[in-house]
Amino acid sequence: MDPELWRRRASLSPADETAYDAPMPTRATGFFLFLPVPLVLFLLTRAPLGTRASLGVSVPLMLTHRLYARPWALGRADRRCLWCGADLPPDAGSSCPELAVAEPSGRATWRACREAHAVPVRRVLAWAERRRSFLAVGIVGTLGLFLLWSAASALVGPGRGVLGLSFDDAVAFFRLGIAAAVLPLGWLAARTSSAAVGPLRSPFPLHVPALVGLRTVLWLFRLVGLLWLAQGTLQLVGRIAVLG
Ligand SMILES: [Zn+2]
Repeated sequence: MDPELWRRRASLSPADETAYDAPMPTRATGFFLFLPVPLVLFLLTRAPLGTRASLGVSVPLMLTHRLYARPWALGRADRRCLWCGADLPPDAGSSCPELAVAEPSGRATWRACREAHAVPVRRVLAWAERRRSFLAVGIVGTLGLFLLWSAASALVGPGRGVLGLSFDDAVAFFRLGIAAAVLPLGWLAARTSSAAVGPLRSPFPLHVPALVGLRTVLWLFRLVGLLWLAQGTLQLVGRIAVLG
């Protein structure tokens, strides 16, 4: 722990100490509110309920997530670190850096527990902002096309495919498109040497990474991106082999 935080902690009253020692409920709630994200991805790529029912469950989950996740994250934006998700010390005052960010859904002011955790947030946002179009096409474009493709597959029925392309082909396309977008974001963005100059801007809403910490989300991008790159490539190679 940062020496400065240890010093502050030593000066806390027993009541404050209890509050400071109990970050788990916030972390656990953030984790719980984040769960719909992997659940939706599981439903979309595995269709465990069948294509129609899986789409029917995952699309409302996606559309409603913002309604409860964003107010919860914004309500704790000045008390939690956007990078690591830790609660800030009760007497943090102005010693923890503020991160005012213009997001697609409006301005929000987040915090970091220390300058060393504000720096990677600024770097990731600067990297992502410079690649706004690439990320929009890679993530939103891939998701939109995949949903249309899946809905068409669901309408024609399992095993028949659309224009000769099956639901499995759509999943391969989805995994490869998302992996192509999130792998550079996960592996490169926090390592870039240039941070944002002037006001911070984000091409994506920050309430989702705020639930578990942006650092955790970048690790998910790195690991799931690699897994999906491998799975999507294997599916594609198998498909080409069948066609050949
Ligand atoms: Zn932190």
